[in-house]
Amino acid sequence: MIIDAHAHVGIDLVFEEVRSEAEIIAAMDANKIDATIVQGMYGHIYLDEIRENHDRIARLAKQTPRRVFGMITMTPYLHEADFYTEARRCVQELGFVGMKLHPLAFACSPLNARAEMMWKVCDELEIPLMVHTGAGVPLSLPSMVIRRCKQFPRVPCVLAHCGTLIYADEAFLAAHECPNVFLETSWTAPHHIIHAVKTFGAQRVLFAADEIANVTTELAKYRSLPISSEERDQCLWRTANTVFRLGF
Ligand SMILES: [Zn+2]
Repeated sequence: MIIDAHAHVGIDLVFEEVRSEAEIIAAMDANKIDATIVQGMYGHIYLDEIRENHDRIARLAKQTPRRVFGMITMTPYLHEADFYTEARRCVQELGFVGMKLHPLAFACSPLNARAEMMWKVCDELEIPLMVHTGAGVPLSLPSMVIRRCKQFPRVPCVLAHCGTLIYADEAFLAAHECPNVFLETSWTAPHHIIHAVKTFGAQRVLFAADEIANVTTELAKYRSLPISSEERDQCLWRTANTVFRLGF
């Protein structure tokens, strides 16, 4: 079994990308991905657009039951009441399994008060928070999550891209400091994945591609690593299954 914990659908106004449902499903079929956690795109600041983007993910999840799961993607600079209401709708009505904080795209450091609100909402709704790390420092420095992860020990925090190569050591520092930090390995160098598995255990490491065109490459990395088949299995689906409570 394989679970990809990080894919995008929609129109991105910040990074100017467009990704479709059909592309996601085609990449899943081509690479034998059993389930994918799909999040939205960035730059949408109006609540009606944000709701539409979430509904779009929910439609895909409904069309492909147990193959696609949704992740909340919305700017934390909405009115707080709107943020809470939409997050609750996503989890309780649409069945979403996590929330995303992109410090660069949202212009919001994990230490910002609005990021604290995101952690609070995740704590209340019992969902993990995925935080982008790497490009976009200092906002996206992995160490920025340490204080929040200690403040919200019940919220699993998934570090997307594990610091993206150059900040991998800092992602490892966060994982060392906080047992609720999990390392998502899209764009991560193979030797850093080995280090993460050997240092923290495969139950703290999870496979993801982030980009449709990156799925085959990320899978090839895992297949080439000198780790046990149990460790590989754990990274390829069991960790995501546990962290996002997917129930496989
Ligand atoms: Zn991404």
